[in-house]
Amino acid sequence: MNVFIAVDMEGISGVVIPEQLGHGRLFYQEARRMLVNDTNAVVEGALAGGADSVLVEDAHSSGFNFIYEELHPDAEYITGGAHQQRFPFLEDADVMMLVGYHAMSGTANAVRDHTMSSASYQDIWINGAPSGEIMIDALIAGALGVPVGLVTGDDKACGEARALLGDIETAQVKRALGRHAARMLSPRRARKLLRTKARRTVERVAELSPLGAPATNTVRIRYNSTDFVDRMYFDGAVCRKIDPRTIEYRGEGILETLSTARLAQPYSAAGQADL
Ligand SMILES: [Zn+2]
Repeated sequence: MNVFIAVDMEGISGVVIPEQLGHGRLFYQEARRMLVNDTNAVVEGALAGGADSVLVEDAHSSGFNFIYEELHPDAEYITGGAHQQRFPFLEDADVMMLVGYHAMSGTANAVRDHTMSSASYQDIWINGAPSGEIMIDALIAGALGVPVGLVTGDDKACGEARALLGDIETAQVKRALGRHAARMLSPRRARKLLRTKARRTVERVAELSPLGAPATNTVRIRYNSTDFVDRMYFDGAVCRKIDPRTIEYRGEGILETLSTARLAQPYSAAGQADL
């Protein structure tokens, strides 16, 4: 049983404000420790549930948020940015876990709601459906035959995950009161919940199924400004201009279409800040 864990930061227990989220920010170093402690709890739970190998990717912003010396000894880790594939080696996994995730852009009362980058992207639709990172990453996993079995974050991220993926495990470590406010579990209780849910996920892998996509797909992105759209060439087939800030990409397989839209690579490789 191989487990792949993708770790974002906005849905980590204890994280609520932008000053926790990026290199050099006032509370970033403390928040990295929270991220590592949530991650270690999920690794522990996965191993307790029977995982043979656990691979964890740092998937927030630069891809360099782990504190190496504090990582759980019995997993392996992908760190750093600008590699081509959003989730290297995911195809070897039996189940994927999305840890520290957040609700899609425009969600009311959700901690740091955004999709890929609040600095660059306003909204994303996949095959007409409003889409956040939970959907994008579950589709990437699904294209590789891997189900998502656990999503952790605030109540809105967990709700978004269940609406999309059905009866999977979710770990709600905080209840959002706004974009920068939440009612939080204590660290000890949050990590106990994460351990329990990760363990349960591994025990339930046989019940899970990968998220499917149709034979042809569209990804529509509304950017925050006209800059990005102005720099694109539109062939009218693979890539169409919908309005001055919106592009629609068309393709066959979902992975190919997400890749054309530059959503199948890490944020850092797409040249976007994940803020
Ligand atoms: Zn992030």
